[in-house]
Amino acid sequence: MNTDLYEVLGVARNASPEEIKKAYRRLAREHHPDANPDDAAAEARFKEVAVAYEVLSDPEKRQRYDTFGPDGLRGMGGGGSGDPFAGFSDIFESFFGGGVFNQRSRGPSGPPRGQDLEVVAELDFEVAAFGGEHAVTVRTAEACGDCEATGAAPGSTPTTCTDCGGSGQVRRVRQSILGQMVTAGQCPRCGGLGQTISRPCPTCRGDGRVITEKTYTVQIPAGVDTGASLRLTGRGAAGVRGGGHGDLYVHLQVRRHERFERQGYDLVHQLRISAAQAALGVHLPFDTLDGTEDLVVPRGTQTGRVFRLRGSGVPHLEGRGRGDVLVQVMVETPGDLTEEQEDLLRRFAELRGEPVADADTSLLGKIKSAFK
Ligand SMILES: [Zn+2]
Ligand SMILES: [Zn+2]
Repeated sequence: MNTDLYEVLGVARNASPEEIKKAYRRLAREHHPDANPDDAAAEARFKEVAVAYEVLSDPEKRQRYDTFGPDGLRGMGGGGSGDPFAGFSDIFESFFGGGVFNQRSRGPSGPPRGQDLEVVAELDFEVAAFGGEHAVTVRTAEACGDCEATGAAPGSTPTTCTDCGGSGQVRRVRQSILGQMVTAGQCPRCGGLGQTISRPCPTCRGDGRVITEKTYTVQIPAGVDTGASLRLTGRGAAGVRGGGHGDLYVHLQVRRHERFERQGYDLVHQLRISAAQAALGVHLPFDTLDGTEDLVVPRGTQTGRVFRLRGSGVPHLEGRGRGDVLVQVMVETPGDLTEEQEDLLRRFAELRGEPVADADTSLLGKIKSAFK
């Protein structure tokens, strides 16, 4: 079972919708059960092609598949109405079955898929919040061009392994106390590849692949946060001697913002206001990530109070809506009073009947008086 939907349709990753449609029509005709009566393999292939087309012909599903891999399509069904994957995941699930995506996709013969790769992407705060593109560079393995991934030196060709007949598997029969035991294992002669080469390609030393650095542009969905990972199917390392590509896992790390701290989809900001502003109230222009809003601080606001600017936070990763901006006000005590300001403040305290320290009392004097 091939889990790379692009490979199923035999199209490139950047194939246009027309190319995808064309490939689907051709393959569907070729493998249609009517044209292949009693051919289970053709029927399986027909279903595979249908699922690949269902995903890749839908821009939203295709984007999700490109970004998250097959897992992005899994478990999306069963939600409320408006869920683009409702009804879809059933066919997908029944078809690919549970957990198949976590296994190495490998046919009965042929070289195994290449390694999965991992890379950390450090995202700007705004890119994580609103989505965008981010380039990642990975050290990876690509098919060797000199031997066309066969591993055989130019002018020579690989030959079918004589020990396993090309299956890559050998059966061993041994006697045990329970009788004859038949075990199947990897063919030691060809290492399970089913083919041997007499003259290895000098470029890749018979590996069929070369180490290289590649840069991929990753589509970052809006609303992601540190700890999230994206899976790019088929962007991992190439396998030995023509084996398919593994996947690339991009682990996201979001840089800090100078004004906001993220709490889920909410953005928290601590705003300092003066004691007079807190007491008398104030209208303040407040910059969110995408504009300026009017923040109304009412009279008599206490320090620590939180104001919520609805819908100005981070867009939800799944579905619609956005989080909020939470502005927590901190009332600042004025410390650098002029003579006139101090006179006014003393008059203010007097009017409210609040005892305050004398003007000429030094800090040391205050401490001493506290112990008298
Ligand atoms: Zn080579
Ligand atoms: Zn072999």
